[in-house]
Amino acid sequence: MITRRSDLSQDFLAKQAAEIRARINKYQDRARIKDELRQGDVSGYIIHKQTNVVPQLEKALERLRDGSYGICSKCNGSIETKRLELVPGADICMKCIPTKTKRTF
Ligand SMILES: [Zn+2]
Repeated sequence: MITRRSDLSQDFLAKQAAEIRARINKYQDRARIKDELRQGDVSGYIIHKQTNVVPQLEKALERLRDGSYGICSKCNGSIETKRLELVPGADICMKCIPTKTKRTF
């Protein structure tokens, strides 16, 4: 299967790559700080970020390298740039966010 390449500008992609790397560093820093402190409920937050967010961000860096960054993995459409700015590791667009993460009745 050929992955569709995103039509995002090189400037935007470079900005996102920098942002993603900064976020990964930030979470890794926090983990190191946590190691030193070993206390409080901050640890749950860090573990959450480390187990969920960091791998997501690393995948986003891979997509930046292979050119598929910004493409929704579900509908193959473009992910909204506003969403990418807020969630640099996003791999699905707003329309494809599972409804189960919203309120279920
Ligand atoms: Zn989509």
